[in-house]
Amino acid sequence: MPSASATPWDGVPESDVTPAQALVARAHREAYAARHAPTAGDAEFLNGYERASCPRCASPDIVRDGFDSRGVRRWACRSCGRTFTPATGTIFEGRKVPVSDWCEFVIQLLSFDSVREIARSNRRSPTTPPWWLAKLFLVLDGIQDGTVLSGRVQIDETYYPVPAAEAERNADGSLKRGLSRNKLCIAVATDGRGRSAFEPCGRGKPSARRALAAYSGHVARGSTLLHDKEKSHRALVRELGLASVEYDSRRLKSLPDRENPLADVNRLHFLLKSFLDAHKGFDRADLKGWLDLFSVIANPPSGAMEKAAMVLGRAMECPGTLRYRDFYGGGRS
Ligand SMILES: [Zn+2]
Repeated sequence: MPSASATPWDGVPESDVTPAQALVARAHREAYAARHAPTAGDAEFLNGYERASCPRCASPDIVRDGFDSRGVRRWACRSCGRTFTPATGTIFEGRKVPVSDWCEFVIQLLSFDSVREIARSNRRSPTTPPWWLAKLFLVLDGIQDGTVLSGRVQIDETYYPVPAAEAERNADGSLKRGLSRNKLCIAVATDGRGRSAFEPCGRGKPSARRALAAYSGHVARGSTLLHDKEKSHRALVRELGLASVEYDSRRLKSLPDRENPLADVNRLHFLLKSFLDAHKGFDRADLKGWLDLFSVIANPPSGAMEKAAMVLGRAMECPGTLRYRDFYGGGRS
C-alpha cells in the first residue's frame, strides 16, 4: 500500500515529469501536509506554559518526563504517580483539532460572525461550534469580575425577547406585551472611557434586588451614577453611597447624541442587540456566556487578534475542561 502522501511520480527524475504532473504532485503534497501537520504550533504553544503542580491531585512534587508523540511536554507526579501535559485540566485536554482552529473560531466570533456561518465556512460537522462555544464560555466565566467602574458611570437596562416557543402567553393565547416576562433584561454599565460591564438581570423590569445583584459588583463606591428615573436603581445608590444624577428618558430621546449624557450606554445597547441578532437562535440559557463574550468585544485590548490572544492565555490558566463526551453524551460513551 502506498502512503497517503505518495504520488505516482515520487523518485522519478524531474526531467521525466511533465509540468502538469509536477503541479498535481505538489498540490497533493501541500494538501496532505496541511491536513496532517496543522498541530505543528500546538506543542510550542502548550510547552510555553509551565506547570507548578499536578492538575489531578494538586501536589507540587512533579518532575519533567520527556515529551508525548506530538512533542508536548510531559510531567510526572511523584505523589499520585500519574502523568500529565500542560493541556491537562484545560479546555485543550483531549483535543481532536489543533489549537489554531479554536483560535480562528474565537477570532471569527469576536468579529461578529455567527456560529452557523462559522460551521459552514470551516466545513465542520455542525455540532462542533456549539461545543467549542461551551468551552469558550467556560474560559470566559468570571472574566467580568474585575470590571469595577468609577467616576461618572452610566447605567441602563436593555431588553431582548425570549424565543416565541418559550414565551408566556395571555389566557387567549396571545403573547404578553411590553416589558413583560417575555423579555430578558440586560444590565449595562459603562464609564464612558472604554470600560463596560454586561450582566443578565432576569426577565422584565428589574426589582431593586435584581438591579443590585447585576450592578453592585461593577460600580465603585462613591462614584457618580448617571441614569434614568428607574426606581430599582435607588437601592444601588443607597447601598454604594453613590452620587446620583437622574434624567427623564423621554426628554433624552429628543437630544442629539453629543448632548445626551447617556449616549455611551445607549450606543452599547445598540451594538449588543446587533451582536445578539447575529446569533439569533442562541440558547437563552447561555445569555451570561454571550454577555461575557460581548464584554471582551467592548473592552480592551482592541483588535480581534489581541483579544483572541488574551482569551487563549486565559484558557491555559483556567482549570476548567469540557470534554466532547460530557457535552453531548452525558458521559454515556
Ligand atoms: Zn498528582
